[in-house]
Amino acid sequence: MKMPVKFKTYCPFCRKHEVHEVEKVKKGKSRGMNWIDRQKSRRGQVGNMGKFSKVPGGDKPTKKINVRYRCTTCGKAHLRKGFRVRKFELTE
Ligand SMILES: [Zn+2]
Repeated sequence: MKMPVKFKTYCPFCRKHEVHEVEKVKKGKSRGMNWIDRQKSRRGQVGNMGKFSKVPGGDKPTKKINVRYRCTTCGKAHLRKGFRVRKFELTE
């Protein structure tokens, strides 16, 4: 997927459409434990751990990316929900 570095989109701070700059950001760190981690810790450490005995599978063909949109008018940045793409490029 190709995305322009600057494009006009809604700014929640200005409450209208403004030109935004796009920055790619790394995935936010997961704080604490997820439900799957708690479920895992509840199982005993001995013997068959059910589905947790499985070897983790390979990489998925697509990666989830997170993009930060910075408003050029107010200078504030906002995030949107990450989306899955095979390839992400920023075009001029
Ligand atoms: Zn703004």
